[in-house]
Amino acid sequence: MNDQGADFIYTGQQPVPFMLPNGLKEILDYDQWLAHSEKQNKFPLLTPGQWNEAENNIQSPISFIKGNIHSFNQSFLEKIRGNQQVVLVVSTDNAHAMPELRRFFYTLTELKIKVPVIIQRTYQADMGDRLTLYSATDIGGLLVDGFGDGTLLSPEFSGEATHTERLKAASAFNSIAFGILQAARTRMSKTEYISCPSCGRTLFDLQETTAMIRKHTEHLKGVKIGIMGCIVNGPGEMADADYGYVGMGKDKIALYRGQEVIKRSVTAAKAVDELIELIREDGRWIEPEEREVLV
Ligand code: SF4
Repeated sequence: MNDQGADFIYTGQQPVPFMLPNGLKEILDYDQWLAHSEKQNKFPLLTPGQWNEAENNIQSPISFIKGNIHSFNQSFLEKIRGNQQVVLVVSTDNAHAMPELRRFFYTLTELKIKVPVIIQRTYQADMGDRLTLYSATDIGGLLVDGFGDGTLLSPEFSGEATHTERLKAASAFNSIAFGILQAARTRMSKTEYISCPSCGRTLFDLQETTAMIRKHTEHLKGVKIGIMGCIVNGPGEMADADYGYVGMGKDKIALYRGQEVIKRSVTAAKAVDELIELIREDGRWIEPEEREVLV
């Protein structure tokens, strides 16, 4: 299974004509879902109005209800209070999405509504690096504050897009969505690296070392590794890391487990191997090739 595989794929009006791999589940527009004879791993997406009409006749363990925040009025929200079979998929047209969505989450909190909420945003497919910036700003800040349970990022094309262009956009949006979830600690799907910007106290090539450590450890899903230039400020800056690789002098590295120094004055030539050994001692090491078989 791909570590960055989504849990659900939204196919709307175009159901996937084959069995989806690795337990991936499909969300269909309500009319398509109703028309589909085989409903295993398929879930309906309704508007608030459709859900109001069909509420008691939806034979699905989960129903997704999608709408602009203004379509979820107070009487509707009170109706879903305590319902464990609905998930809200919430969007906004406001260019300043984050504050408006935050206000919506405050409303949910005030009304004591705890249903899961997916934050939906649509961006132009060709935004390049701005996509990372905008989506992280719109969604990341909410997740960090504990608002929202997932995200649905949708690419929008200015004209006709080829199949390849759609696939490329889907892959880029998927990767950014997982990056936001990881940075907000909502869902860990890859190794986390915490690195200092380096300064005059750094006595090794921080970028090169970080790249080398990443090369050896990037398959360790959920493990947090701090790579810090010096022992003076490094340990404080990597406070929530599981392991630390910290410079303590010329060709001298200290290795940490959490905030505890485990090995001192390790030479740079041996430090990565020693770091791997430390992770192995904790039972958190997985051989890269073994991982291919296990997941
Ligand atoms: S951790 Fe040390 S080397 Fe890195 S930026 Fe801070 S003071 Fe400089």
